[in-house]
Amino acid sequence: MQSKRSMLLLLGASVLVAPRTTLAAQLTCSSSATLEELAACIRDQMPGEDSDIFVVPSATQIDAWRSVARTMMRGACSFSLPSSLSSFMRIRSFRDAGNGRRYCLLMESGDGDEDGIVDRGFGAFVVDAAAERELIHTTAHPISDMATETEAITIFKETRSRSFLVAGAHRRASTITSTCQSSMTISDSAHNVANVFHATHLELANFYGSRPWWLIQWHGMAENTCSDVDVYLSHGMDVAPVEGDRALELRDRLRAHHPTWQVGVPGAGVCSLNATTNVQGRFLNGVPASRVCRTPAASYTGRFLSVEQDPDFRDPDNWIAAVLETWP
Ligand SMILES: [Zn+2]
Repeated sequence: MQSKRSMLLLLGASVLVAPRTTLAAQLTCSSSATLEELAACIRDQMPGEDSDIFVVPSATQIDAWRSVARTMMRGACSFSLPSSLSSFMRIRSFRDAGNGRRYCLLMESGDGDEDGIVDRGFGAFVVDAAAERELIHTTAHPISDMATETEAITIFKETRSRSFLVAGAHRRASTITSTCQSSMTISDSAHNVANVFHATHLELANFYGSRPWWLIQWHGMAENTCSDVDVYLSHGMDVAPVEGDRALELRDRLRAHHPTWQVGVPGAGVCSLNATTNVQGRFLNGVPASRVCRTPAASYTGRFLSVEQDPDFRDPDNWIAAVLETWP
């Protein structure tokens, strides 16, 4: 009798203890029904400004992330994550309840200290295997560039684009200075290379090779920044776009849909936010990956488009038609 009771106690104890010791709490956004809800959920559980939460990924983790991103881009989703990621990342098929479509979702979930915030700041990557255009939508500055996460994911969804990528932390989550660009912190994904956000760009370039593709980085600016414009489009260089350029095409389509919008591009001196120090922009404009921290681009490819927006111009519904017309 006594031994049977001990057995039961032991069993009870192991049931209670096992999940805590083998598996950290996971924040999976399981109640998010649509991509919009998912992007908001991922943003809300990210390390915030001055949280001092941002873990620089190891070389092994960056390689593993790139391999997972490549497999997702090839259309796969039901596979196991490499061991360097599997304790704090999750991959799953995500069905959007609004349009009924399935997407492949990779997201950081690990919350070891159970404070409701993920522990590292790795972010998320979403792929539509049945996409209609090779266009990538990214949010480099979640939280700080307010609403650009939900804006970019809605434009991704409604334009049937290939993928959506969001950085994993507020750009000033960490107070540690970046060795890439000393005026920025290590958590600023657009100005540092030691993060999986940047690594995804290297893998996308690898994946597409010589095939055509485009990437839009959606940003938000303060209303009094570049006060002559509401929206500013650039390819990561302070050079006037040439005829046939998609920055001009998108500008013209936006003006046609919204005659009152002031939409600017480089060349006229209306705004200095040309993303010339943006390391993803530099890389996609042909600067070797090993030199993007310090070397500005010498020319632009047109593959990278930085969109800066005043606060009242981030409603995705105002952008979808113009994006569809620019990338038919
Ligand atoms: Zn930004």
